Amino acid sequence: MPQSPSTNRRIVLAARPQGAPTLQDFRLEEAPVPTPSEGQVLLRTVYLSLDPYMRGRMSDRPSYAPPLALGEVMVGGTVSRVVASKHPNFREGDLVSGTAGWQDYTLSDGQELMALGDTAHPSYALSVLGMPGFTAYHGLLNIGEPKPGETVVVASASGAVGAVVGQVAKLKGARVAGIAGGADKCRYVVEKLGFDICLDRYDPQFAQQLANACPGGIDVYYENVGGAVFDAVLPLLNIGARVPVCGIIAHYNDKALPPGPDRLPMLMNILLYKRIRAQGFIILDHYADGFAPFYRDMSAWVAEGKVKLREDIADGLENAPAALIGLLEGKNFGKVVVRVAE
Ligand code: NDP
Repeated sequence: MPQSPSTNRRIVLAARPQGAPTLQDFRLEEAPVPTPSEGQVLLRTVYLSLDPYMRGRMSDRPSYAPPLALGEVMVGGTVSRVVASKHPNFREGDLVSGTAGWQDYTLSDGQELMALGDTAHPSYALSVLGMPGFTAYHGLLNIGEPKPGETVVVASASGAVGAVVGQVAKLKGARVAGIAGGADKCRYVVEKLGFDICLDRYDPQFAQQLANACPGGIDVYYENVGGAVFDAVLPLLNIGARVPVCGIIAHYNDKALPPGPDRLPMLMNILLYKRIRAQGFIILDHYADGFAPFYRDMSAWVAEGKVKLREDIADGLENAPAALIGLLEGKNFGKVVVRVAE
């Protein structure tokens, strides 16, 4: 669809998904580009981050944030260019990160914007130097507390959060086993990210291979996925293991609880007799105290080449729905970012 500068393309929630989202659950609309008032800036989206939490916002069920209303613009972290400014702190041309959502243009009063300055890699503000990187850092270091020589396991190991978890765990002296979907991702996780080993979750022998890879058990399991991966991990957890519960993407499209038998008593029994600490967290709660130290450490590690992240770039706002659907199916290879404009 040709796009004139007076038109704001935006993608809204058209329907609530039943199970996995489909393209029909999204709608591309056009609206006039808004004009900034005194104290506002007009932002042009350059990069849009796609993240698993967006699936939760599409459903009308209890969560840590209210659901999107039908017809509302899909939420999302963004890197944007200031194209007009009536705000004293921002000038035309400035690059900022914020939450403009799935649209070409938006207005902001500047409150939640972070100026990016001159940066060689602006999209990192949505990945390793932004929310997913902070999630990995906080969950691993403040809840997982890995010690040198301990075994850390993390799934979706080539993705935005998992890749950072494993590399930071290595920097802290742990032995790291990754889990990823397929041989290519596993090869990348070991050869490029420096994990000690990576297991393919699609391999029919996956559970046995994980047990073989962790002969001394698992001290920290950074939970990103749930499902069959968690089933394989659970019997391997050591006494005193820590489990930062970050996400359970294997269940985000579930329509109901899985059929029995009810394994809750078994889970609680293992937590009890092994004195395991499993702690959920939502990264939004930790920005005030935690973001600055994270940003300082991670900027240095990225600059020194100690932490790397592969990006999986989708071109064009109109391709965001398919890219989000793919992310939820494990089709992405790296952090999913939509390039909305040059
Ligand atoms: P990723 O870039 O890792 O992409 C998602 C990956 O999940 C897929 O590539 C796939 O990896 C894996 N996956 C998908 N379906 C399944 C399945 N059925 N079983 C196992 N793995 C599956 O996403 P993020 O790094 O952005 O997010 C990782 C997790 O962190 C998510 O659960 C997310 O919700 C959570 N999160 C939580 C936050 C918080 O505040 N608590 C903040 C940010 C993220 P593969 O095919 O390689 O296995």
